[in-house]
Amino acid sequence: MKAVVYEGPNKVSVKDVPDARIERPTDVLVRITATNICGSDLHMYEGRTDFEQGRWFGHENMGEVIEVGGAVQKVVVGDRVVLPFNVACGYCKNCERGLTNYCMTAQPVKEWAGAAYGFADMGPWAGGQAELLRVPWGDFNCLRLGEDADERSSDYVMLADIFPTGYHATEMAGVSPGDQTVIYGAGPVGLMAALSATIRGASKVMVVDRHPDRLRLAESIGAIAIDDSKVDPVDAVLEETMGLGADNGCECVGYQAHDPQGVEHPNETLNRLVRSVRFTGTIGTVGVFIPQDPGAHDELAKEGQIAFDFGLHWFKGQRMGTGQAPVKRYNRQLRDLIAAGKATPSFIVSHELPLDDAPDAYEHFDNRDDGWTKVVLRP
Ligand code: NAD
Ligand code: ZN
Repeated sequence: MKAVVYEGPNKVSVKDVPDARIERPTDVLVRITATNICGSDLHMYEGRTDFEQGRWFGHENMGEVIEVGGAVQKVVVGDRVVLPFNVACGYCKNCERGLTNYCMTAQPVKEWAGAAYGFADMGPWAGGQAELLRVPWGDFNCLRLGEDADERSSDYVMLADIFPTGYHATEMAGVSPGDQTVIYGAGPVGLMAALSATIRGASKVMVVDRHPDRLRLAESIGAIAIDDSKVDPVDAVLEETMGLGADNGCECVGYQAHDPQGVEHPNETLNRLVRSVRFTGTIGTVGVFIPQDPGAHDELAKEGQIAFDFGLHWFKGQRMGTGQAPVKRYNRQLRDLIAAGKATPSFIVSHELPLDDAPDAYEHFDNRDDGWTKVVLRP
């Protein structure tokens, strides 16, 4: 089969690799119909992880079931399914509590880290930027879709990661009806957090970024766009909230020390959030902060530390949630919102391309080139 293989920093190529296949009776084999490039792939693509050359990415996957193992009971051949990026067993201590983001079985090496398809340090699982994907614990990890699955695949594929991740940010931030919410980052994840805040009834959603095309998408769903290359975003939020600060906020940028647009510090969004959110407000951080980055411009970041303004966070009595999103916890409900026509996450999709175009697409998406917001690959 063909796959988008990592060849070293800033280089992927489409190559023949061994076919994915059923290896255990609980496995399901999926023919991939849609697989996204994610901002999380860029941490690996840019070479700041120990992702091995020769492996392939792809954790935002959907497709058609073409074979099931002998112990699979619920999923059948022909089902259209979307796969939460978290690979999870369903029966460990964390899965039992719904924390599939920290499954202890699917991550045999680092019990604390959780598992994902095609990801550095998150288990041995192959990615889905390929023609076929092996889904372990298939009954648990496949979310079945309805009749409109193919027709609306560019909406449903967002259930693999970024829609539930954006939702998780607003859940950790406690966004409630009437709240004023600020979101740092208008990348795919930030835009999904903005959509989620709207679904949860926020009265005002403010989105901070510096890319006009992404800010326009935020405005298209009713958010207020704040361009931090033109104004101080903290001042702008205070102005929008009568000087009080937002009720809550989401960090959807993460570690961007290698952003070609130039970021002063890898922690600047966190510290700005602390200043943008009111006393006793809440913050949800889904942006990924890589534990260590030997290539970082920032000396502290090289050792895995960032200069977080904990003093102000503490003084303001704020709370903060962190970590990978437990996709399964939200995605049945989010699927049903899509099916009911009440959520259309595909508004962020800028490109739908064949697998062969992946190298070019990675380059554009990594450069944050104008108009390259979200790429769906169609093997
Ligand atoms: P992205 O890199 O395309 O988006 C980041 C956006 O932040 C860009 O539009 C960029 O212009 C903007 N930005 C950069 N510096 C900024 C600043 N100082 N202030 C405001 N905006 C700034 O990626 P994405 O796909 O949207 O992902 C965002 C983050 O979420 C990444 O760190 C990704 O790894 C992470 N993520 C986490 C989870 C999870 O489960 N927790 C899941 C998916 C993605
Ligand atoms: Zn992703």
